[in-house]
Amino acid sequence: MRQLAALSRRFSAWSFRTSAAFHKFDIASVIERAKHQHAFEYFADDQHSSLMLYRTMQPEYKPAEYLSVVKCASNRRLISRFRTGCHGLRVDTGRWADGVHLDRTYRLCLVCKSLDCVEDEQHFVFDCPAYNHIRSQHLDLLQHCCTIADFMALCEPNTCGGFLRECFACRKQILSV
Ligand SMILES: [Zn+2]
Repeated sequence: MRQLAALSRRFSAWSFRTSAAFHKFDIASVIERAKHQHAFEYFADDQHSSLMLYRTMQPEYKPAEYLSVVKCASNRRLISRFRTGCHGLRVDTGRWADGVHLDRTYRLCLVCKSLDCVEDEQHFVFDCPAYNHIRSQHLDLLQHCCTIADFMALCEPNTCGGFLRECFACRKQILSV
């Protein structure tokens, strides 16, 4: 019983000291400083090509609109991966596939078996002939866009997610044959 009381007193003292220590710091300002530091690094990093693309779509450091608009979690995840360049296209996987780093110019599209087209986001959304039948059903979606930044900014996010889903499903089917 005496040991329990001693343990309780020690815990109370520790709790008091910890609480006092936290009061010394202004947690809100620590969080705010960490946010500013992260935003600074986000805009200053010019080494990662996928981040460069992301910044063209998201010039401000704030939550993107699609996060609150797209209710389907898997479509939201798909859009997030596409925007951040973690989509599995050759421009992404060529960085590390099979432990080999391919120069960007060698990350060619295996879907249309192009000899000179890198399978990047632009090729995937606008140019690869393998998805022409899907594009033909989404002319309204694509007619005002000619860059990925336009595509992500101008297209209604739910429709955009659906289009990407169809194209990725088609890609998977073609590559599995
Ligand atoms: Zn292609």
